Amino acid sequence: MKIICIGRNYVEHARELNNQIPEEPVFFLKPDTAIIIRNRPFFYPDFSSKIDYEVELVLKIKKNGRHILPEFAHTYYDEIGIGIDFTARDMQESLKTKGLPWEKAKAFDGSAPISSFVNISKFNDLNDIPFSLRKNGETVQLGNSGLMIFDFNTILVHISKYITIKMGDLIFTGTPAGVGPVAIGDRLEGFLGEEKMLKVDIK
Ligand code: MG
Repeated sequence: MKIICIGRNYVEHARELNNQIPEEPVFFLKPDTAIIIRNRPFFYPDFSSKIDYEVELVLKIKKNGRHILPEFAHTYYDEIGIGIDFTARDMQESLKTKGLPWEKAKAFDGSAPISSFVNISKFNDLNDIPFSLRKNGETVQLGNSGLMIFDFNTILVHISKYITIKMGDLIFTGTPAGVGPVAIGDRLEGFLGEEKMLKVDIK
């Protein structure tokens, strides 16, 4: 399986990092070795001194598809969860400045903690799914799928023009404003609506 992540999908987040608002979805990949499951801890890596959290809604793909048409895009997923797109921001800034790929800063081991998944039928409106992140008990990010620049279906149509999506793939759909650094000893908690889905201790 693979993880495909959308970047700059919330206007306020693009602005906070001084990025342009994209005209089409920006995406990058993480390998399966990035995944952390079952609320296991994240071990702060020695190659960075600024690891940022980015809480995101995550779609689980349920069947293979390429060149997906907009009217069928919704048939490719029916489960959603919460994930954190950990980013070595110091390395990413340096790579961006040099015009180099971001992988080292985004795809490292443990950079993708994910929650369990719930059926999307739990939500009346897929364009109104609230989610949030708490750091040490304080809410640091508040998002809603309705604020995405590119909605779930638009994302799948775009990605599948270039890359076949397969059953079990995960799509990180972008982070809202409020990203910030973690330190050893911090606890992150991700919420889907009111429900706590994910806990990550930084060690
Ligand atoms: Mg992200």
